Amino acid sequence: MRRLILLIVLFSACSTIEKSELSSSSSSLISNIHFFNTGNAFCSIVTCPYEKKIFIYDCGMKSGKNERTYSKIQIKKEFEKHLKGNKITLAVSHADMDHNSLLPLVLEGDISDIFLGGERGDYFNLEEFLGKTSNAAIKSGNDLKALENNKIYSCGNQSAKLLSTNVGTKPNSKSMIVKFSLGEIDIILSGDAYGENERYTALNAKKDLRNIEILTASHHGSSKKGSNSEDWARVVSPKTLIYNAGTHNGYKHPRCEVVYRFNPYLKTEKTHRLSCYDQILKSINTKKSEFNVGDYKKLTIKIKGNLYSVETDELTFNPSSPHR
Ligand SMILES: [Zn+2]
Repeated sequence: MRRLILLIVLFSACSTIEKSELSSSSSSLISNIHFFNTGNAFCSIVTCPYEKKIFIYDCGMKSGKNERTYSKIQIKKEFEKHLKGNKITLAVSHADMDHNSLLPLVLEGDISDIFLGGERGDYFNLEEFLGKTSNAAIKSGNDLKALENNKIYSCGNQSAKLLSTNVGTKPNSKSMIVKFSLGEIDIILSGDAYGENERYTALNAKKDLRNIEILTASHHGSSKKGSNSEDWARVVSPKTLIYNAGTHNGYKHPRCEVVYRFNPYLKTEKTHRLSCYDQILKSINTKKSEFNVGDYKKLTIKIKGNLYSVETDELTFNPSSPHR
């Protein structure tokens, strides 16, 4: 009897160890990619649960606001919550203000690296802000171009790789296209890429475009200047597509024709609404994994182990496994 009691005690001690090991294992840690509704603009944060680091890709504000759009005070509070004590890596896709106008307001603290699509001189509105970031290593122009196909950030099982930048001479065609990998989940962040950026990237980084789970539509879902082309949709074949567009914006982003173009590649979700433009603004019901950030306040991609799910302030969608 005494031996039996000893065995039970030993067994329960082992179970406790296994449980505590399991709960602290990396598979239970959650990474989040937050997209904020700041109008017809782009503002995103990638959190890292492994180290005190954070990755910011663009943060600007523009027209196309609605009742769900963040106010400047609200977005500052969101950033304060996420930045606390973290070392910041900042990537700004290109110099247009809808991608960077909020940075001086929301970014305070320890910025270690700054990557600027285009030339530093293009960022006249950020000159004062950049002047205060004396501890940060700033890369732009040819220095950034030289980093194509290289990692520009890593944290735990996360990494960001620069696929292309400064392809053309217009602000949009200088957009940085970045592949962000979180374990087995890959996401392409594409700024305001034109068709020429998409074609260049498809050739230059062919292998990196295999098995992509999530894509942000180029140029807020525009179909002008070759953005979001048929070829790009086929090459990337994302399971989930995110439009960083406002509603009621004069640019008519995203275009419904772009939405229909990507539909064959997207996975199925429960029915939800999606705002897009033909001649006028439409609110369509879709079962495809496509979301316009402007339809919500915040949209979050939550990654746990090898599963990712899309969460908005209204709906949570079922977790999905990666392509492989
Ligand atoms: Zn833009």
